[in-house]
Amino acid sequence: MQQSLSFRWEVAVVLIGPIIVSLTVIPLYILISGISPWVWLMFFVFMMWNGLSITAGYHCLWSHKSYQVHPIIRSIFALGGALAIQNSILQWCSNHRQHHRDTDDIDADPYSIRGGFFYAHVGWMLRDYPSSRTDYANVRDLREDPIAAWQHRWYWPLVLTMNLGLIAALGWLAGDILGALLIAGVLRLALCHHCTFFINSLAHYWGQQPYSDANSSRDNPIIALLTYGEGYHNFHHTFQWDYRNGHCWYHFDPTKWLIRGLSVIGLAGSLKQVSPVQVESATAAMQLKRATDRIRHGQLMNTAERINLLKAENDSLMTTLDEWSAIRSEWLSARADNLHQRWERTQFRNQLREIENQLREQRRQWRILTAQFA
Ligand SMILES: [Zn+2]
Ligand SMILES: [Zn+2]
Repeated sequence: MQQSLSFRWEVAVVLIGPIIVSLTVIPLYILISGISPWVWLMFFVFMMWNGLSITAGYHCLWSHKSYQVHPIIRSIFALGGALAIQNSILQWCSNHRQHHRDTDDIDADPYSIRGGFFYAHVGWMLRDYPSSRTDYANVRDLREDPIAAWQHRWYWPLVLTMNLGLIAALGWLAGDILGALLIAGVLRLALCHHCTFFINSLAHYWGQQPYSDANSSRDNPIIALLTYGEGYHNFHHTFQWDYRNGHCWYHFDPTKWLIRGLSVIGLAGSLKQVSPVQVESATAAMQLKRATDRIRHGQLMNTAERINLLKAENDSLMTTLDEWSAIRSEWLSARADNLHQRWERTQFRNQLREIENQLREQRRQWRILTAQFA
């Protein structure tokens, strides 16, 4: 990397200014004037609007096209993106698509973790690195979206309207313009910036790789708490078109809940989702890879036999999973259309139960086998 590249002072002011004010002016203001519950409510609402516009809007909707949503919601996300001051939809999505295409390549990934933690977090924006220059060729499709194109054209006036005009107006209604600008404006901006940046830095640095080790992305439930659910980043890099980051129901993922909620009330649709079979296949493939590596590096007796045993067990599990998936979809369609006779549906259900029992036993065997090499 070239270090003689020009420093972007304007970016540094937007990124570092809110932190300095949050650590100095804001504590003093709270001590001297106090903050009303209305201003704290504004802070909470703007935290959600800012954060979810980036995760559900910029990321899932525009970058990955994981679902479709009503223009009213797209407009709310576009305004929330201007509130977030993280560049326009077109620029953000271009950088993000580049990140997925060349993950970890220091010369092509705009926020590659190979440049170090600080570089992936904010450093990539502070200098005019060739890899962070935006080439809009990869977002031609988004120019067709009138809301994204409009937000790109009017980005800076929208930033000022959202961050100064709107917050000052609501602060006036709440009886504390300066408090609103400091808490719902500056403090919210500082926190939301770093919530997003943690996905580029921490989520490529700290956590597990259950689905793939093809790149540095990690799954980490603690990071998910800070990033509106996007801490399950290994899952996201492996299945990037899925609208979820945390694919299990108990994974903390407010972004997924919002999108799901919008689909329930009819404002979103075409939610893309990988099948549980694909997730389980990827997980088992990673377990097989790790166990095989440990056997090889451990220089155990009968290395070849152990590896062959693991591979055979994995093949058998995958075959049963495929059979289960086929029978299940037949059963579901038999249940959905009443064309099948009742006895046929019962037959499918019995077959399904039988194969589920077999699958349960095979999963147990697989866990025992791979745990031996943990
Ligand atoms: Zn990433
Ligand atoms: Zn992504």
